[in-house]
Amino acid sequence: MNTREVQAALVALGYSLVVDGVMGPRTKTAVQAFQRGRGLATDGIVGPLTIAALQETEAAKSGAGQPLAGVLPADWMPAARMNRVIVHWTAGVHRASGLDRTHYHILIEGDGHLVRGSSSIALNDAGGAKKGYAAQTLNCNTGSIGVSLCCMAGATESPFNAGSAPMTRVQWEALPAVLADLCRRYSISVTPQTVLSHAEVQSTLGIAQRGKWDISRLAFDPSVVGAKASGDLFRAATAKLL
Ligand SMILES: [Zn+2]
Repeated sequence: MNTREVQAALVALGYSLVVDGVMGPRTKTAVQAFQRGRGLATDGIVGPLTIAALQETEAAKSGAGQPLAGVLPADWMPAARMNRVIVHWTAGVHRASGLDRTHYHILIEGDGHLVRGSSSIALNDAGGAKKGYAAQTLNCNTGSIGVSLCCMAGATESPFNAGSAPMTRVQWEALPAVLADLCRRYSISVTPQTVLSHAEVQSTLGIAQRGKWDISRLAFDPSVVGAKASGDLFRAATAKLL
């Protein structure tokens, strides 16, 4: 890869720089950020390991006939090393509150509108969560992206009652495209360990969650019962988009 190709690859990944074939300070900073995100030595030198990582990311992005869902703006997905996406509901109303925005990276409102959380995804980097990270999942925030459906205020698990702001079909159906964007951007594969709901964290990852049941019910479809049943639905829908 020559400098121009390296710059073009970095731009495609969302870094802000000019493709001019000159290894200037902005390009070097972007190279270092990319290296940091991939767990490489952050020397800003485009050596064989960095080139391999860039080519791997490019190949993943341009895979045969991949449709680009593209619902999330590129600047919502800064360079970071992320291992998984955890899906929640806010247990609030259909609109994202300021408090909701501190807990999750991306929120899906009742009408399907997407809202960016107030913490950058990069603060939950797999290399170590940084001050101000989005605290969404007990003892499982490092390397985790938090996506939350704004709904289920006052809901109860047993007997099931969806409360005053039941999950809407529209927001549920907006979820797979969001997950697909994140999986593509951060090279996360769709498995039960890497794309899962909060309700699956304890059973799948073995990290206790004090009875969290988001998401184990779909208010608009009573035939779906349980965390695995719900998670399998959004995983299958996401995989179809990749
Ligand atoms: Zn949760």
